[in-house]
Formats: sequence, structure tokens, C-alpha cells
Amino acid sequence: MNNSTFTMIKPDATSKGYTGAILDMMVKAGFSIKAMKWIKLSAAQAGEFYAVHKERPFYGELVEFMSSGPIVAAILEKENAVADFRTLIGATNPANAEEGTIRKAYAASIGENAVHGSDSDENAQIEGSFFFSGLERF
Ligand code: GDP
Repeated sequence: MNNSTFTMIKPDATSKGYTGAILDMMVKAGFSIKAMKWIKLSAAQAGEFYAVHKERPFYGELVEFMSSGPIVAAILEKENAVADFRTLIGATNPANAEEGTIRKAYAASIGENAVHGSDSDENAQIEGSFFFSGLERF
């Protein structure tokens, strides 16, 4: 169960041309790609994905941002994937992100922070299934 996680490269990063560099950091950190797609979410789809944050003051901004342009969605595999990937992406606010993390290198702000990474094994499963069917995983 704990060998896969779900990620998105967010619209700020795809629009700035960081997609390739961010994928390279993931692969070099030992993650392998189980599923991947280039897709643009509708506001309704972004709202559903982030429904857990519905009561937070930034929910509207988050939904608008996540549906503003294309993203890369992917399922990644590695031992201890969820925790190791959270370490690789760094703190939610890039101002607090460690050197060598994806958000330190590529995130602009706490809202537009370049990448998503699941926060638990359970959410990794739920989020991966939001985007991918069994036929799309290899
Ligand atoms: P994560 O697990 O590190 O992505 O952080 P959270 O689960 O706390 O928040 C989910 C996402 O909501 C973050 O990655 C940001 O894109 C966004 N977010 C979190 N806090 C804020 C905030 O204070 N303002 C805005 N605009 N967006 C936020």
C-alpha cells in the first residue's frame, strides 16, 4: 500500500515551462511513473478534487487556480512513496521549503506552489482513482 503516491504539476509550473525539469527531479529521486496524463480540470472537477478544503478561506482561489490551465497528473511508485515524495516537494509555502526541494526551486507562493503530493496512503489511492482507471496504470 505505501509504495505509491499521486502528484500533480500545477498550472503555474506548466505555464512557466517547468514540467520537464520537475519530472526530472521526481525520476532522479527514485520515483517511477505508473500513470500519467496532461489534462485541464474544469472548475467543478477542481472543486471536487479539493472538496476536503471547502471550508477553508482559500478554497475559491484554489479552485480557480487549479482550473486555470493544464496540469500533469501522475501516479508515482517508490518504497515509502508518500512520505518520501512529501520530503521531495517541500513545505506548502515555498518560503519555508528546504533547499533541494521542488517547491523551493519552482514554486512562487503558498497558493501557486508548483506541485501536489498526497498526504497519506489512503488519499494517494483516492486521488489516483480520481484521474486514472485500471487500464491507465502500468
Ligand atoms: P499541501 O498538502 O502541501 O499541498 O497543502 P494543503 O493540503 O494545506 O493545501 C492544499 C493546497 O491549497 C496547497 O498546495 C495550495 O495550493 C493551496 N493553499 C494552501 N494554503 C493556502 C493559502 O493560504 N492561500 C492560497 N491561495 N492557497 C493555499
